Amino acid sequence: MAKHPETNAVRIQTKKTGEKEHSTPLFLTSSFTYDSAEDMAAAFSDDSLDVNIYSRFSNPSVDEFIEKIASLEGAEDGIATATGMAAIYSTFMTFLNQGDHIISASAVFGSTHTILTKYLPKWGIEASYFDMNKPDRIEALIKPNTKILYVETPSNPGLDIIDIEFVSALCKKNNILFVVDNCFATPAVQQPIKFGADLVVHSATKFIDGQGRVLGGVVVGKKELIQPLYLFIRNTGPSMSPFNAWVLSKSLETLFIRMERHAASALQIAKALNGHAKLSSVKYPFLESHPQYAIAKKQMSNGGGIVTFELKGGIEAGRNFLNSLQMISMTNNLGDSRTIASHPSSTTHSKLSLEERAAVGITDGLIRISVGLENADDILDDILQALGK
Ligand SMILES: *Cc1c(COP(=O)(O)O)cnc(C)c1O
Repeated sequence: MAKHPETNAVRIQTKKTGEKEHSTPLFLTSSFTYDSAEDMAAAFSDDSLDVNIYSRFSNPSVDEFIEKIASLEGAEDGIATATGMAAIYSTFMTFLNQGDHIISASAVFGSTHTILTKYLPKWGIEASYFDMNKPDRIEALIKPNTKILYVETPSNPGLDIIDIEFVSALCKKNNILFVVDNCFATPAVQQPIKFGADLVVHSATKFIDGQGRVLGGVVVGKKELIQPLYLFIRNTGPSMSPFNAWVLSKSLETLFIRMERHAASALQIAKALNGHAKLSSVKYPFLESHPQYAIAKKQMSNGGGIVTFELKGGIEAGRNFLNSLQMISMTNNLGDSRTIASHPSSTTHSKLSLEERAAVGITDGLIRISVGLENADDILDDILQALGK
């Protein structure tokens, strides 16, 4: 009988050592041995993941993490990378050729934006951008050489949301690979493949680890798409460390209950802050005032753990707010058990010009709260006292 995803997240274990260990073992080894010269020769003639050769190619701890996350995303297969950016960059390098065109939401993670604007043009790959709030404008951007359509939903840090099913239909019609960064939602909240995405990428560094310990990335999708990606990673080397994979496999066991708590607290905090005199706006996917509330309700099982708000006093008020916090951490990471406040315009998106920031909805007073696992009243108290100063 097929099990629920929550059960799979806890129970999938692909590798055992023979020592009857209960928890998942960690395979810290750079390479693997063979019983004979013939076996060794056979391993090297095979481009599949079936035989472990060297941990840049594959490793049992990494395989287990991949199998778990692919199962949660409803994907056939996957690959894991050292960081989220390695997953995104490897996807672009594998599926884009010189002269190709990529369409991306303008509101994407800062480093993703940097790859699109600074690095891909070096190889003659051109990008076009669309506003997440105007999906009807996407079709006009499609060209005969468009190979990839890329979105983050919800986006970082603007929490813009796009209808995955709508974009997927457009991509299928035009033979374009549809890639979704599912970092903010995680597979516990949203499975883009169910709505037609071809590839799902993650920064596992965020909610998947969930405790601010290790970096990691992952891409999942159909076997035929994962195979060329696997060969790219195996040969160029942005592979995931077995130790990080082991940490992340254990993290997945608590992903569902963590996301439920992150989301319940985030909703409570967003509701409590909505209408506060010092704020010009509060944004959260499951607040009815969110411009894409209906889409969020359709494709997400809860609103996730990120809340943003806009301080009326701009850059000065943003700095003041961060300096007044007593418990909440000031750091650029997100998806941690500890609540984090950040000011995107001066940190993650500081490399963007003022105009580029404005285009992706990052204003001077924008504060991003990654709601942690502390008691929600304590988190809210700290925000309220900092707003009062
Ligand atoms: C953090 C992040 C990334 C990059 O991941 P790293 O693990 O830091 O390389 C990519 N996309 C989104 C949405 C992110 O938040």
